[in-house]
Amino acid sequence: MSTVEQLAAEQGFDFMGTCSAKELVARPEVRAMCSANKCQVYGHSWACPPACGEIEDFERQMHEFEHCLVVQTVTEMEDDFDVEAIEEGGELQKRRVLDLVEAIDKAGLSAETMTLSAGTCTLCKECTYPDEPCRFPDKRLVSMEAAGLVVSEVCLQAGIPYNHGPQTIAFSGCVLYN
Ligand code: SF4
Repeated sequence: MSTVEQLAAEQGFDFMGTCSAKELVARPEVRAMCSANKCQVYGHSWACPPACGEIEDFERQMHEFEHCLVVQTVTEMEDDFDVEAIEEGGELQKRRVLDLVEAIDKAGLSAETMTLSAGTCTLCKECTYPDEPCRFPDKRLVSMEAAGLVVSEVCLQAGIPYNHGPQTIAFSGCVLYN
């Protein structure tokens, strides 16, 4: 098991799987879905499109790594509209990914990794975009989708489910490393 995998295992993710980082594809159609702005954060965060950068650049950066570790939190919902469970699951995944980034940093590996999260950056109550610079440019995380990845495709590549069945919701992030 690699050091990154060991550190991830300590964070309590519900599912983890690995694939080759060279296989990751940043797809224009994912960016097009971002720009449809259904999430209502497109153009409202330094961590989201268009401010986060072009998908071609993300793909080039991703291909500089050998491995992709997908880390996932799965939450059970009482019904399909269990907003509380969805929010709690999303926050738990963010906390786990941030703790993993901190552990990677403490291990002296941050310069050798790239981490993508789930959802927009919520480090600040209100993002400064576009009026002032980002408050935490070294800590903000871009989501897998904002980098152009189809999360279900990457989960399949990594050998873990994307859909865990009725009344569950999964949140996925990934760490790329050598
Ligand atoms: S750290 Fe704050 S200012 Fe920077 S992207 Fe996240 S929410 Fe916006």
